[in-house]
Amino acid sequence: MNYRIVTIPGDGIGPDIVHEGCRVLEAVGKKFGHSFSFSPVLAGGAALDATGEPLPQSSLDACCAADAVLLGAVGGPKWDTLPGAKRPEKALLGLRAGMKVYANLRPALMFRQLSAACPLKAEVVGSGLDILIVRELTGGIYFGDRGRSPDNSSAWDTEAYSVPEIARVVKIGFESAMKRKKRLCVVDKANILETSRLWREVTESMKGDYPEVALSYMYVDNAAMQLVRNPAQFDVIATSNMFGDILSDEASQITGSIGMLASASLGDSGPGLYEPIHGSAPDIAGKDLANPLATILTCAMLLRYSFGLEAEAKAIEGAVEKVLDAGWRTGDIAGSAADRAALGDKLVGTKKMGDLVVSAI
Ligand code: NAD
Repeated sequence: MNYRIVTIPGDGIGPDIVHEGCRVLEAVGKKFGHSFSFSPVLAGGAALDATGEPLPQSSLDACCAADAVLLGAVGGPKWDTLPGAKRPEKALLGLRAGMKVYANLRPALMFRQLSAACPLKAEVVGSGLDILIVRELTGGIYFGDRGRSPDNSSAWDTEAYSVPEIARVVKIGFESAMKRKKRLCVVDKANILETSRLWREVTESMKGDYPEVALSYMYVDNAAMQLVRNPAQFDVIATSNMFGDILSDEASQITGSIGMLASASLGDSGPGLYEPIHGSAPDIAGKDLANPLATILTCAMLLRYSFGLEAEAKAIEGAVEKVLDAGWRTGDIAGSAADRAALGDKLVGTKKMGDLVVSAI
């Protein structure tokens, strides 16, 4: 079977890490007898430079017609002074809305080989860290009405949610919990926000369908604290767009490396949008220093969620484990200066790390 994947290399380290992701998918295809075709399109700063638009309509059309979309990262200092509508990041919001992907799944998983990179004490993390954050992606304050008074003396952003918008995300939260440790925590600010109270009402109306799931609620300020105090208490967290944006970055830092974490954005039907959680890392772009493993693990999510290829996804994850077990590291996961010096030729760049995963597959 041929799977059509549209790639958006984007800016900064994006093209390099997407290249390694595609090589790994090709290796999996060879091993399991699938063929993947890759069609690159422009978005972000690269698209602004070429067309004047952060997300050309032709790019969005290609993404919507694909079987799945793999995105590197967009943005960089070159475009930072442009007005909001012309910023590269506008492409991300446009892609999510245009592809109708409303739930962002972000695993915060600590690899045992990298536990030394976790900024929390070993006794706090316990036996490991494996949290799935399900973030609402196309509603709430990032998409609500916003504006300024004519004299610029005030500004507003509006948080609004409908019952169906909440229900479809909470459903993914419950269903993900059923496949994991059967614990779902809905994070909100229901002591203050009316939208949060609606999230709770909708969740309450659905919980009867999932009697095996232990459901809890937590205010977002407390959740931010609990994530560093006792992260092991969490299994699945479901939350609104802005709270999820903030908490998933916090959770990712606890795992120790932003260069290791994948994400998937899913809708009801149509292609999923897959991207590493990190940005375009302009500080290391073009230097063969970027860790491609987040993108490679993102490719595993793509195979699992969009194509139902579980054994193939596991082959990628197993290959990454094998490479880490053998002691290979990119700079971001190399530890202290002393650890790094001790690594010798096991300290590798983007291309070599990609090669190692391909050989392990
Ligand atoms: P960033 O994630 O790009 O970088 C933060 C730090 O992490 C940097 O020191 C960087 O070198 C390091 N880092 C990130 N990914 C890495 C990798 N794979 N390997 C090794 N080190 C890695 O975040 P930022 O600096 O806040 O943003 C840079 C640009 O990226 C901005 O223009 C921002 O808007 C954009 N951005 C894009 C996305 C996206 O495309 N989804 C997400 C976040 C930020």
